[in-house]
Amino acid sequence: MKLGQIELKSVSGGLCHLDAGTLYGVVPRVLWERKTPPDEKNRIPQQTNCVVATIDGRNVLIDSGYGSKLPEKQQRNLASEAGDPLLQNLKAAGFTPVDIDVVVFSHLHFDHAGGGTCLNEAGEIVPSFPKAEYIAQRREWVMATSGLPELRGAYPQENLLPLQASGQLKLVDGNVEILPGLRAIVTGGHTEGHQALVIESGGETAVFLGDICGTRMHLPVLWCMAYDTNLMQTRRVKADLLGEIADHDWLALLDHDPDYVAVRLSRDDRSDFVASELIDSL
Ligand SMILES: [Zn+2]
Repeated sequence: MKLGQIELKSVSGGLCHLDAGTLYGVVPRVLWERKTPPDEKNRIPQQTNCVVATIDGRNVLIDSGYGSKLPEKQQRNLASEAGDPLLQNLKAAGFTPVDIDVVVFSHLHFDHAGGGTCLNEAGEIVPSFPKAEYIAQRREWVMATSGLPELRGAYPQENLLPLQASGQLKLVDGNVEILPGLRAIVTGGHTEGHQALVIESGGETAVFLGDICGTRMHLPVLWCMAYDTNLMQTRRVKADLLGEIADHDWLALLDHDPDYVAVRLSRDDRSDFVASELIDSL
């Protein structure tokens, strides 16, 4: 779709299945299971929706899915797609790896950063996009590479260190403009250095919310994931961001929704948020 002068294309980084308890945190099961019934292993399908924004001839990939390097056991647990779903879906959308000029990560959890690297023919892990600059918040990078044992599973180092080694990594600090028409807002909440990406052109705006609100099921402000490192912050920033999106009729881009990549929002009578328009592809 066109957003002003910017072309937006949704590209899946792969479908996987996550434990329902981790997805809904403190929300009681009786409330969520009617809306999203889990499978026999208590899992719910989750997409890893990425977006390519073409700005002035430059292709910017927002997030990269889980990639092709997940250990076999994790692939089984997640029932994730085999192969390299991101590269396959980019190809189907008309993009080869050298076409991607910039990769920007909402945060560096494995299901957002894993597709940024892949194995080459020699079996080495290298950036998937040889010409791209890879952008992340410095605060996120520091946490992700801190070596803290409790974060090890969330941030496999093989997704990160090759980006630094190749010289393609660029760390930014705070709310910065990435390109004209694309800016970052540090939200914190899900992770300390988590950022939302705001795309603006010709009076139209879309916001990639990252894991501040990953699916339409998470639109109610109190429905948050158990993975959030600062739950109160997620709730506060979500209320603010969704409020702005609803009040200006902006587009909200959802990274994990299994059915829709974007929604428009309205407020309901309890001043929470509901989807007023559902969009299944860009
Ligand atoms: Zn995620």
